[in-house]
Order: sequence, then structure tokens, then C-alpha cells
Amino acid sequence: VRALGIDVGGTSVKWVVLDLTSATPAAVADGSFETRVELGPAAVLERIAAVGHELIAEHGPITCVGTGVPGPLDLERGRTIFLGNFPGWEDAPVVEPLERMLGLPVGLINDARAFTLAELTLGAGRGSRTMVGLTIGTGIGGGVVVDGQLLLGMNGTIGELGHQAIIPDGPPCGCGSHGCLEALAAGPAIARAAGMATPEEVVDAARGGDRRAGAVLEQAGTYLGIGIANVVLAVGPERVVIGGGVAEAGELILRPARDELARRVTVMPLERIAVVRAELGTGAGAIGAALWGARAGEREA
Ligand SMILES: [Zn+2]
Repeated sequence: VRALGIDVGGTSVKWVVLDLTSATPAAVADGSFETRVELGPAAVLERIAAVGHELIAEHGPITCVGTGVPGPLDLERGRTIFLGNFPGWEDAPVVEPLERMLGLPVGLINDARAFTLAELTLGAGRGSRTMVGLTIGTGIGGGVVVDGQLLLGMNGTIGELGHQAIIPDGPPCGCGSHGCLEALAAGPAIARAAGMATPEEVVDAARGGDRRAGAVLEQAGTYLGIGIANVVLAVGPERVVIGGGVAEAGELILRPARDELARRVTVMPLERIAVVRAELGTGAGAIGAALWGARAGEREA
């Protein structure tokens, strides 16, 4: 059994063909193409379906498809609610047009939940029963796994961990609230605080000994640690897996995060809670989408 996973990002669509026959699913092929968000949802989904047809011909038999998108979803109706950086994607149908064009069952999932599912199954979360995934890039998304199951909750909304308040009257967040973790520790906040163009630049500068850049990452890590502490107290995970572009900062951000976690969580055995970097890299979203697609396939079988 092979599943096609598709991760629809702001600049690129990443895909993977995952073979699910063995105990450990393995990628048969992967790649990416430009999203061209400006074309609108119908045209972007047509492009995805066209690539999907090629992949089915080349790497089939593929029996199911999973699609991850960056935003809140109406899982029951298989539609987006809105996607932050995608104008025109309000209440856009995804499952119905893709199923029609590809002739296969399609599962829809939030991209951070897909990341979490991938890291749980094949990455840094392997072997854990209870886990939290956090992906830190342009925004901060998350996912929660309890007793081996990715929790969905109402409409798949469990895991919006980037929008927990860290500073009550902190800077405005893209979600409309203030002082969210995302507004303090995501890539744009880090770049802004350091007076640089990108978070990568800040990490490079910090590694080169730039004190301001180092202090900015330390502060972002501290905020992240507060966020992790809040989630740890709610979920009691064995592992917290941190991915996304900002995780490339590694210990520059994880060490202050762990320090802050230790300062704030005193009622749990911290030695049993590991805060670690994700292992699957930028392909995690597509892998998680494929795993999710396999579930959609099972439901229709
Ligand atoms: Zn927010």
C-alpha cells in the first residue's frame, strides 16, 4: 500500500510517496514544486492533482492521499476556514475537488498536526506514548499525542500552541490577540528583535559571537520555555519535539527553553520529559500528511 502525502506551504508544495507495507513506512520518492498561492485555491488544487496523476503513474499503485495545509480547517466538510498567508482561501473546499480529480480518498489535516504525526511515527517522537510537537517557522503550530493517538478535539483544533498567551499585554499577533508565543518566538519576531532580515541571519550572527543576536535567541528560548511549561503541565508528555526553521538554532534556543521549563515545572518528573529537535527535516509535513491519508483510505475501505 502506498500513500501520497502533500504539504501545501506558502511558497512550495512538498510531496512524498510513502510505502506503508512494512512495519516502518518508508519514502519511495519525494519532491516539491512552487505553490503559486496567488492563483487561488481551485487552480492550486488543479496543479496538485496534475502532479498527483504523474506520481500515481510513476510510483503507483497509490491508494490514498493526505493533504496538509497551514491553517484551521473544517474537518467535517473537508474545507479550509482560512489560511493566514493565502488570500482567497477562506472556506475553500479541498477534499471534494481533490477526490474528484484524483479518484482516491483524500484526508485533510493541519500542517503542524501532520508534522507531529510524522515525528511520532518516524522521527524524534518514535517510541513515545505521549508527545507534544511544536513547529516554529513563520508561525508556531503544534500537535498533541496522548496514549499514542494524535488528538484532534473539536474540528481538529487541538494543538494551536502558538497562540497561548505568554505576556498578557505583549505585542499583537496575527491571530488578533496579544502576547502570543508566536508573536514572541516565531521567525519574524526573532528577526525583528535582532534588527535583521531573517531568523537564519540571527542564528548565523549568534554563532559568530554577535551578543545582541545571542541575547535575542536566549529571550525567544525563554518565551518558548514558558510555552512548553504550560503545555507540559496540561499534557504530561514524555517528549517535546521542536521542528521548523527556527529549530535550526539548536541549543541556542533549546537550552534557555529547557532552563525555563525547569524553573516553572516543579510538579512533574522533569528527568522523564525530553525536549528534543525534530529529525525529519522539512519533509515532515508531507510524511505526516501521507500517514493521515492512509487513515482516510482505511475509513473508505
Ligand atoms: Zn496569536
